[in-house]
Amino acid sequence: MSLLEFDEVDKYFGETHVLKDVDLDVEEGEVCVIIGPSGSGKSTLLRCANRLEEIQDGEIRLEGQSISAEDADINRLRQRIGMVFQSFNLFPHKTARENVTLAPTKVKGLKKGDAERRADELLDRVGLRAQSNSYPNQLSGGQQQRVAIARALAMDPHVMLFDEVTSALDPELVGEVLDVMHDLAEEGMTMLVVTHEMGFAREVGDRIVLMADGKVVEDSPPEVFFENPKTDRGKQFLSKLL
Ligand code: ADP
Ligand code: MG
Repeated sequence: MSLLEFDEVDKYFGETHVLKDVDLDVEEGEVCVIIGPSGSGKSTLLRCANRLEEIQDGEIRLEGQSISAEDADINRLRQRIGMVFQSFNLFPHKTARENVTLAPTKVKGLKKGDAERRADELLDRVGLRAQSNSYPNQLSGGQQQRVAIARALAMDPHVMLFDEVTSALDPELVGEVLDVMHDLAEEGMTMLVVTHEMGFAREVGDRIVLMADGKVVEDSPPEVFFENPKTDRGKQFLSKLL
């Protein structure tokens, strides 16, 4: 059993067939990087994994339990899935620490003091111990995104989903966020990462999954994908990067 399994998943928006028979298994501790042109279904795939979107056919399982079934205990499952988006979506009137403690106290019932200690640990881990009392508008985009990562980690997720988390950042702030993701990967976090950062994909990814037109068209280790892709779609995608 893999940690996260997509099993013949089909997703439609109205008449539009957006995910077409997608099979994808993510193993525990694996960093699976999803790349592909705009509109190929990458965000939708992640959103279905967190059940922000419903699927019409197939099944998605986390640790063997269906996420997509009608009677799935979605609140419990969601606690095991952390997600970080391109837009940081921090609560603007709460400090970094308060952003991180909110869900653990409200959803998990953690005591305030315990949640705060844990938040400070997590903020330290993403390099923001000194900023724990800062408000989002006092932080750079890179710092805000790192708070968003700490906030997701505060629920002790078993898998983290990242959807183009550096795309909205000024170029000089991209590295500090990728470094945090790199550390997380080294600590063994299971990660499903949609990104345009090919350096990161190559260095940190265990697998590169290329999506095109709602399908997985190549699934290769990075050394294969970037040196000698198995498919024409892979070759085409690479040639456009050069
Ligand atoms: P990517 O993240 O790879 O750019 P998306 O998953 O965002 O692709 O989109 C895949 C397809 O689904 C696109 O054709 C997009 O227009 C369509 N789509 C995404 N979200 C919606 C929605 N909420 N309603 C209708 N169509 C959508
Ligand atoms: Mg997207």
